[in-house]
Amino acid sequence: MIEHSNFFVISKTLQRWYEKNKRDLPWRKTKDPYAIWISEVILQQTRVNQGYDYFLRFIRRFPNVKALAEASEEDVLKQWQGLGYYSRARHLHAAAKQIEENFHGKFPQTYPDLLSLKGVGKYTAAAIMSIAYGAPFAVTDGNASRVISRLFMVNEPIDTAQGRKTIAEIAQTILDPQHPDIHNQAIMDFGATLCKPQQPKCIECPLQTHCLAFAKNTVLKYPIKNKSTKITKRYFHYFHIVYNNHTYLHKREADDIWKNLYEFPLIETANPSTLPELQNTEIFHQIFKENRSIVFTHKLHIKHILSHQIIDTNFYKVKIPDSENFSLSDEFRKIPIDNISDFPVSRLIHKYLEKF
Ligand code: SF4
Repeated sequence: MIEHSNFFVISKTLQRWYEKNKRDLPWRKTKDPYAIWISEVILQQTRVNQGYDYFLRFIRRFPNVKALAEASEEDVLKQWQGLGYYSRARHLHAAAKQIEENFHGKFPQTYPDLLSLKGVGKYTAAAIMSIAYGAPFAVTDGNASRVISRLFMVNEPIDTAQGRKTIAEIAQTILDPQHPDIHNQAIMDFGATLCKPQQPKCIECPLQTHCLAFAKNTVLKYPIKNKSTKITKRYFHYFHIVYNNHTYLHKREADDIWKNLYEFPLIETANPSTLPELQNTEIFHQIFKENRSIVFTHKLHIKHILSHQIIDTNFYKVKIPDSENFSLSDEFRKIPIDNISDFPVSRLIHKYLEKF
């Protein structure tokens, strides 16, 4: 383990590196806890390049807690469309309402109060406390955790409670309590751009002489992880119905991916299925009855990859003659075709709509 006296040097080295290399990002120019909160949540599972525009759009549309709390969930999801992990948007919305109701609209200023907000965990609370309020809370996002695990050769897997605890303790120990905001942003940026998961730039690294993994030539062994992620394969078949210049959308309400987003009528199967196989299913008959004049055209086959799921998807365009007497049950909304863009949809549906 590295000497205690070196902790100070590590933090100062990180801060000096950051001053020279920091990226010019809009959320770095503010101490507004609301803006910092939004940026941290956007960046949790999104690369900075992609998050940049979303952040600006989101802040423009909802410039403060009140505006976000008063928005409809559909509006919030629409602004989030394409970012993925939609629970983040739903939690932001719910937390904004909590701030309005429980904190009289004033952004919470203590760590426990921040943790009481929907979707705010230790990492986000520490980021807000340190960056907005200058309080000495160390952050341990994925980037900071990787840097620490390599510098100190942390042998407990970082996806276990013990591993997270060890990383958090070291993070707190090396934190510069005078400049927690700069220190935290420095270590996160350092991990994102220099001490990267693959091909870290060790040769040009200013922390090289302090890095145990570098000294032992074991850099790529860290961070150690316990489990490999289990990937589930799912088979979706969407039906983009065109009938009298209208189409049908369904709101996903189950506790599953894309909750509260809209989609075309869907049949999900356990295995790959052709159209004739789908036509033999009960759900197909519920949707399309025995109507023989409907024309199905296969438009797109796409594999949509999420963190734990691969969604193997077929899209069919379904032309129903205007003269037919066609309707779907109340769980589907009949909307003018040109109005689809008013509804929040998953990135998968968005990809299809960009083409067709
Ligand atoms: Fe990361 Fe390499 Fe620097 Fe160690 S020497 S902190 S592994 S970039």
